[in-house]
Amino acid sequence: MPEESERPEPEGGDPACWLDQVCPACGRLTERTAEGRCAACGEPWD
Ligand SMILES: [Zn+2]
Repeated sequence: MPEESERPEPEGGDPACWLDQVCPACGRLTERTAEGRCAACGEPWD
């Protein structure tokens, strides 16, 4: 069902939306700095 993937999901939300803000090193919900590092632990973030 190709149409389903194009539908926005305002209720459930998209896990990938916040997963993109979880540091792969420390697992915290944070953000990536301009240097490409975790704002919480400072580990390189790819
Ligand atoms: Zn981190």
